Amino acid sequence: MSEKRNFNIVVLPGDGVGPEVTKAAQRVLTCLGDIYGHTFSFTEHLIGGAAIDATGTPLPKETEAACVAADAVLLGAVGDPKYDGKPVRPEQGLLTIRKSMGLFANLRPLQVSPALSHRSPLKREIVEGTDLLVFRELTGGVYFGERTRTDTSASDLCTYTVEEIERVTRAAFKAAEQRRGKVTSVDKANVMETSRLWRETVTRIHAEEFPNVTLEHALVDSAAMHLILRPRDYDVILTENMFGDILSDEISVLGGSIGLLPSASLGSDGPGLFEPIHGSAPDIAGQDKANPIGTILSAAMMLRHSFQLEDEADSIEAAVAAVQASNQVTRDLGGELGTEAATRAIIDAIRAIH
Ligand code: ATP
Ligand code: MG
Repeated sequence: MSEKRNFNIVVLPGDGVGPEVTKAAQRVLTCLGDIYGHTFSFTEHLIGGAAIDATGTPLPKETEAACVAADAVLLGAVGDPKYDGKPVRPEQGLLTIRKSMGLFANLRPLQVSPALSHRSPLKREIVEGTDLLVFRELTGGVYFGERTRTDTSASDLCTYTVEEIERVTRAAFKAAEQRRGKVTSVDKANVMETSRLWRETVTRIHAEEFPNVTLEHALVDSAAMHLILRPRDYDVILTENMFGDILSDEISVLGGSIGLLPSASLGSDGPGLFEPIHGSAPDIAGQDKANPIGTILSAAMMLRHSFQLEDEADSIEAAVAAVQASNQVTRDLGGELGTEAATRAIIDAIRAIH
């Protein structure tokens, strides 16, 4: 068992289903704390639409300061249709906090269990057993390049520095060493200069620092196709900001529900930010309908990546798998469980494991 410690977690419930799903993950963490003797202290702060309503800004200074000083940050979701078309938007809070925390790698795992493979849009024999992890670079590329516009033309600049590529590459190779030892680096090196720099840099870091990991390069168009035909071929996928955005949405539907999928955003040191990949889901907010598993598995990623609590993270993942295997699922997967009951089933499964 790991040594006992105290962890200071900032919780940003945010909007829509955010408060319900973060509450669920906090209950699971508290249960694990009781079992393993850790203290998880939670401090809630405002972000997104909830913060605009209360303070006029989507990221109050005190939220920013608390996140930077925390051991880790757990986020629900931001976004509310009532701000559509308004100059101040909830999503700006998330973009700003990622920047102030220095987060440069966004991790999105996908595992397709036998219990849920029939919910996938892909044939069961193709998708079952898929276990992959996307590393998306978060600070560079076309998202942050200069934009110009005239009446008859427009331009978006795509820029990457070697340093930006190196740091996310190292993170992806380190993760692959702990998994099945394979990295697929995705680029568009037949067209883009940034992709040629990407490919050269990944190749060099591989040769110098991670020769025991298998590296393959793929063009993004070919990877998009291959992901549908043979998703099981992938272990770690490493890619730049926009390709990562597009591929991770493609990958998110393979598992059967967006409500299942967690994510982590990491910097070099300092706290990580952990959140489900789904949005605020205003259509089901406040009705005990949200699947809490994406957020609960995000808490497991926090335990593993920020606190090095492997056994504790494994317990959460085993409990989620056990609940799914017993066919207890929420409405998004065709079941009956509400948020509350699903959370309780997972907590009971954790207690049953110990
Ligand atoms: P945003 O702009 O915040 O990303 P969105 O509408 O693009 O919002 P989501 O909020 O992720 O995306 O919702 C997409 C669909 O998936 C909605 O129908 C929503 O109800 C459903 N959904 C999202 N999260 C969950 C969840 N945790 N459990 C069940 N259904 C969910
Ligand atoms: Mg969305």
